[in-house]
Amino acid sequence: MQKPCPICGKPAVSASRPFCSERCRDIDLNRWLSGSYAIPAADTEADDDEEPLPPPAPGASRSS
Ligand SMILES: [Zn+2]
Repeated sequence: MQKPCPICGKPAVSASRPFCSERCRDIDLNRWLSGSYAIPAADTEADDDEEPLPPPAPGASRSS
């Protein structure tokens, strides 16, 4: 029992399993690269990515 191509649903061929053709394999790859496959972020270490800019030093903007 062969699984159908996950991209278009056609019967997969052994040459390009699990896809029916290299074209569908490319489509799947592009989905990966473009981020269509949402990877749930579990525990991200970089939690403080919204760090505000440091305030200007007092007196630094004075030109006179
Ligand atoms: Zn296909």
